[in-house]
Amino acid sequence: MQITVPPLALVIILLCSAGLSIYMFAWASQRKRVDGAREFSLLALAIAVYSAGYSLEISRSDLPSILSAIRIEYLGLAAVSPLFLAFSWRFTQKRALPLPLRIGLVLFVAATITVMWTTSYHRLFYVDPYIRVGGPFPALAFSKGPWYVAQFIVQELCAIASAILLCANAYRSDALRRRQALTMALGGTIPIITALAFFLGCIPWNLDPGPLSLSCAGVVFSIALFRYGLLTIVPEARELAIDSLRDGFLVVDATGRIKDANKAAIVLLGESIGNPALLIERSTREGKALGSLLDLGEGKIEFELDAPGPGKRHLHASAYPLQSGRGGSKGMVFLISDMTEPIKLFARLLDLAEKDSLTGLLNRRRFIDSGSREIEVSRRSQLCLGFVIADLDHFKEVNDRYGHAAGDLVLVAAARRIESSFRNIDIICRWGGEEFAVLMPGATTVDASRAAERARLALAAEPVIWDGVPITVTGSFGVYHLEPGEASSLEECLNHADTAMYEAKARGRNRVVAAKNE
Ligand code: GH3
Ligand code: MG
Ligand code: MG
Repeated sequence: MQITVPPLALVIILLCSAGLSIYMFAWASQRKRVDGAREFSLLALAIAVYSAGYSLEISRSDLPSILSAIRIEYLGLAAVSPLFLAFSWRFTQKRALPLPLRIGLVLFVAATITVMWTTSYHRLFYVDPYIRVGGPFPALAFSKGPWYVAQFIVQELCAIASAILLCANAYRSDALRRRQALTMALGGTIPIITALAFFLGCIPWNLDPGPLSLSCAGVVFSIALFRYGLLTIVPEARELAIDSLRDGFLVVDATGRIKDANKAAIVLLGESIGNPALLIERSTREGKALGSLLDLGEGKIEFELDAPGPGKRHLHASAYPLQSGRGGSKGMVFLISDMTEPIKLFARLLDLAEKDSLTGLLNRRRFIDSGSREIEVSRRSQLCLGFVIADLDHFKEVNDRYGHAAGDLVLVAAARRIESSFRNIDIICRWGGEEFAVLMPGATTVDASRAAERARLALAAEPVIWDGVPITVTGSFGVYHLEPGEASSLEECLNHADTAMYEAKARGRNRVVAAKNE
């Protein structure tokens, strides 16, 4: 038997490749929860088995030993391209290969291993194999059987499909993911080309370039893995976090082209915003708002959108510039919040704090605030300030006779009639119970009495209908005015009006009485 010494450099390269692949296998195995990690770890294992088998093959010189080594190689080699496809599919489509394809590939790999292992008994794989000497080491030479050709075609198709999937995904992805996908595609392309060259007989001495090219692919894969953070949980976690944000997240480049948008941004701004490579459309209201922030370089803006469904949406956008290494702008990140609900809530809280919940008129607290201010204004502007106090007559009877619900209805109707009898600039409140207070900027007692009389008539004019029952209600009104420059407090003014109102009650109710100014 001829003893040959295989080229040491080649053996070292193959063993290093096997070692690197085993390291990648172990590393990826620990990241089972990341999409594609399982497929990647199996791919690395297959490459490791193949490289180790080949280093064994080149250290043998007789046909049976070489065939035995090749049997080991095929345990890995038969699965390399299908596993690369499984990885690429998972990485780009975020799900496993379709089941029929998966089953087909598993059966095909099993069949290839079986056919290869039993090659001495048939002519399906290696036809008339022999050892060719004359190269750097003895190499197997053979004619190609039909299964050999078939498995070659399937391996090439899987690898080409993987490269296409990865490149297409790179085109649609952000910068980091694009680098990962393109590096993986490059790693996958090297064995496609060298295997084709070997198949077509372009390699001298029939030396199989597969192990070396897979070693190169392994190195490129490790760059994707360790330099570009493939299979690290962080990018996935970041994507998940950004997608689960309630705020819209939008990335545009310096030319205003959309680079990324999370789900909330698409919900808030519409489908078109999810189209990468589209320019911000400045003719729309949201486009105009975002465009103006883009021009400014940063800032905040509020805008309204006619959203599908009820009402407008009130959006709030903040822009943050993305600085490039040289200090210029690479683009911008927008955070877009939907403020519709908080604004509604704020308005509701303001209502609750300032308005009477039954009649919708201002409440006493808000009236006292406004009243103190109006007294100050009237003092400075030398204008009169009119006051009216109204109290419904015999209201207890309404409650007693028709019930509290009827009383409430009458109160609301009375509030509306009184309100519509005064001017828009007058400040009207429910002072308490069935009493109302009115502030009339610039009004004298005569003006205020006229308005109070209108209100009195409006109350008495027609009954309020409750459950088909007419309920007539009247009111007694007290009127007072503050002379320009007169130093009285709001309380004093209201007391004067209140006294006049009691005077109206005393004089038989359903009337307006003006207080005498001292
Ligand atoms: P007067 O002509 O002397 O004013 O007689 P009155 O019955 O109106 O007497 P008073 O002002 O003392 O009584 C007010 C009544 O108004 C007492 C209370 O039951 C009723 N009232 C106060 N607030 C409400 C309310 O929010 N809803 C209803 N239904 N009744 C109210
Ligand atoms: Mg009353
Ligand atoms: Mg009362």
